[in-house]
Amino acid sequence: MSTNILVVEDEEKLARFVELELTHEGYQVTKSANGRDALELALSEDFDLILLDIMLPGLNGLEVLRRLQKEKSVPVILLTARDAVMDKVAGLDAGAVDYITKPFAIEELLARIRVALKLHAVPAAEAGPEGPAEGVLKWGELILDDPRHRVTWGGSEITLTNREFLMLKTLLENMDIVLSRDTLLNRVCGYDFVGETNIVDVYIRYLRAKIDDVYHVKMIHTIRGVGYVIKSREE
Ligand code: CA
Repeated sequence: MSTNILVVEDEEKLARFVELELTHEGYQVTKSANGRDALELALSEDFDLILLDIMLPGLNGLEVLRRLQKEKSVPVILLTARDAVMDKVAGLDAGAVDYITKPFAIEELLARIRVALKLHAVPAAEAGPEGPAEGVLKWGELILDDPRHRVTWGGSEITLTNREFLMLKTLLENMDIVLSRDTLLNRVCGYDFVGETNIVDVYIRYLRAKIDDVYHVKMIHTIRGVGYVIKSREE
């Protein structure tokens, strides 16, 4: 499987040069020249790594990084201007794994990409003879791998936000037990969360849109006046 890299850079010549070099190295490259488009792309598709310029039209790179980090875990290398120390600090604080100062030698960029990919790589899920690995929950084709914070259906990844993930995990851990909206809200948002329990309904709706609707199953059941439950699957 090839490694997908998103290159977010509005300097067209530089973006093309990087694309050419990365493609030559065997990476799959997608380009974006606008912060807003890049964020949308990064949220809707799965990239193995993102090269992110800071000065961008639409939305600056640091803001793209902050918003992205709230939703998913993907290694980001920032492309910064020389002497932009504050940008570098802010970028690392916001979760970037590395930065490289422009102009850079392509060999240096390639080396940093290899390091970032290696650090972020996780071994493939394995179910030993003792049964499923710790922290792995299953429902039909769906596998929720808690240690890796990953949900798949028949091997293909389902992208969930942190709260959707927590909601699904809570329901799977309590299979066949009806959980009230209050219980779910506490588990997903924390006990000190001040808000309406109908937030739970919103997350359930998102989960159904990403799982039930896509894979044509009825996973999450509504128990009127009580809450929600995932019923174990007869196979
Ligand atoms: Ca720029």
